[in-house]
Amino acid sequence: MTAVFAVDASKMPKGAGGLRRKIVVMSESLSSKIAAGEVVERPASIVKELIENSLDAGATEINLELEKGGKKLIRLTDNGEGISHEDVPLVFERHATSKIYSFEELLEIGSFGFRGEALNSIASVSRVELLTKKGDSLSGTRMVLEGGVIRETSEAGCPDGTSIRVADIFYNTPARLKFLKQDATEKAHCLDIVTRLALANPGVKFVVTANGRTLLNIPRAETLAERVMSVLGDEIMHNSRPVEETRDCMTVSGFISAPHFTRSNTKGMLFHVNARPVRDGLLHNAVMSAYRRLIEPRRYPAVVLFMDVPAADVDINVHPTKMEVRFRDSRAVYTAVQQVISETLSDISGAEGPSLHRGAVEGRPGPDVDRYRAGVHEALTRYTIATGPEKMYFSPPEGKHLATPDPPDITPVRDGAEERLFFSSLEYQGQVDGTYLILAGPEVLVIIDQHAAHERVLFEKFRGASRAGGMEEQRLLFPEAVSLSPRSYALLSEYMELMKDAGFEIEPYGDATMMVRSVPSVLADVNVTELLVDCVEEILSTGKTENIEEIRDSVYTLMACKSAIKAHQRMTEPEVTALCRDLDQIPFASTCPHGRPLYVCFDAGDLEKMFKRK
Ligand code: ADP
Ligand code: MG
Repeated sequence: MTAVFAVDASKMPKGAGGLRRKIVVMSESLSSKIAAGEVVERPASIVKELIENSLDAGATEINLELEKGGKKLIRLTDNGEGISHEDVPLVFERHATSKIYSFEELLEIGSFGFRGEALNSIASVSRVELLTKKGDSLSGTRMVLEGGVIRETSEAGCPDGTSIRVADIFYNTPARLKFLKQDATEKAHCLDIVTRLALANPGVKFVVTANGRTLLNIPRAETLAERVMSVLGDEIMHNSRPVEETRDCMTVSGFISAPHFTRSNTKGMLFHVNARPVRDGLLHNAVMSAYRRLIEPRRYPAVVLFMDVPAADVDINVHPTKMEVRFRDSRAVYTAVQQVISETLSDISGAEGPSLHRGAVEGRPGPDVDRYRAGVHEALTRYTIATGPEKMYFSPPEGKHLATPDPPDITPVRDGAEERLFFSSLEYQGQVDGTYLILAGPEVLVIIDQHAAHERVLFEKFRGASRAGGMEEQRLLFPEAVSLSPRSYALLSEYMELMKDAGFEIEPYGDATMMVRSVPSVLADVNVTELLVDCVEEILSTGKTENIEEIRDSVYTLMACKSAIKAHQRMTEPEVTALCRDLDQIPFASTCPHGRPLYVCFDAGDLEKMFKRK
């Protein structure tokens, strides 16, 4: 039988890995430090736990002070309910929590904390001072701990609420201390987490100071829009749309950027589940799939998304820091997010017209004007918020009109994504470099990339036809045998149904050969072998996706690219007129299916600026 003792960690036998050691029960102090490793990775993790405690305590004002990026000191003060004198000795005990009493409650959890681990872990790796007072007590309590050991408890005069000071993080675990980064980096992590929690809790005021300087001062907000504006800035708000929709007990809400407003990394994609900031691959993929074909590869939208799901449908207990979640029905969550965002995006080029294009439209009587006016009206009611109308309109970004070759992190390309341009109302002026179509209206100059524009038109047509039962096919006079690599053959055999919808009638013929009987009629002139090989490449380019829509779209993108008018090809005026008419009829008319802008536009104000008249 193996002997089991409880021993102090420092007395554990030190030995080479090869030596079989006795099994011992870890001391409380050692196991706390290990648990702390899960909860407390860096100052920002402490900040997160402390703020969550304050929010759970009903605080409406949270003050955070940092020194040396939080490594030297974190002090958090709140105006929450405080802790009673009797409870204070308990809060630093491991698994001490006031938030859940039974396993059943765990499944319905509504508070941020519930493991009762955070304060214990934090205290075990730092020096802590707690000052707290409940509103109905005459005096408060002060408690001082060092490495998790209580050094002092006393009565103290202090305001209602709780103030907790955490100093010298990891002073007793030098191995962890070594992993901390520069002050500035740690500070940035702390600010990140405050931002996330501030977004999820608009009704709470947050102030952050570092080494005596105020870094963030986020006032109480009435609405999420107001909060997003003060936390993330006007630029994001001006280029974003609100979303809000409830499906099967799930609510998806927040703001999403228009397709022209992208970033080179995913930092602008912020997800919250039941008000908790989370990192979640599923939500990320759902959003990216909605933006697919609207933005360029390796660019990312800015989204602030809140999912509200019944507590029992999501497990937040997956990881100690609770940044990861698991959905009971992940498929339903994916679909809801993807659809809600897609619908909003398809509206972005919808009917609302902007002041920018007034000149181009108002002159023309008829249904377009009514549609335009109704759109503007509707847009205005949707995007005006309580704080006043001025700022909340989706005005075009200032200054930048054309994508620069080396785009900055955020590249608002003035491609009209935020506004509907009626191409048919413009007058065609001519073609430049056989590629760019110049159009003008009374107050607007528009340059269209003919290939990108035609590609978008065809892509939307193909998608529409496919939804309506399949593409028109052209039967080949003689079926053509196309031999492929075994890999391509195997891949294509999996997508026969999809290829059929796209207008290809092909049949596996064995020996890596496909017999082609029909091709989409738009591609009747293209070399059949090349077409199939390219289709396979295009499907492969979607990576490991299992999403059939994504694969379908990749085939339509290829077909659009192949059948669209090329650059350096002359277009006649009737062709340009037809293209303009088509552009007016499709959704998503601001980027090509590869995500490049399909037109740029300048209004009179822009021209004045360029000529330095203003
Ligand atoms: P958990 O949040 O998981 O319950 P913690 O270790 O974070 O565990 O906190 C332990 C307990 O201390 C909480 O359940 C709560 O009762 C109390 N507490 C912690 N911080 C505060 C605070 N800022 N205001 C009021 N009570 C607090
Ligand atoms: Mg907690």
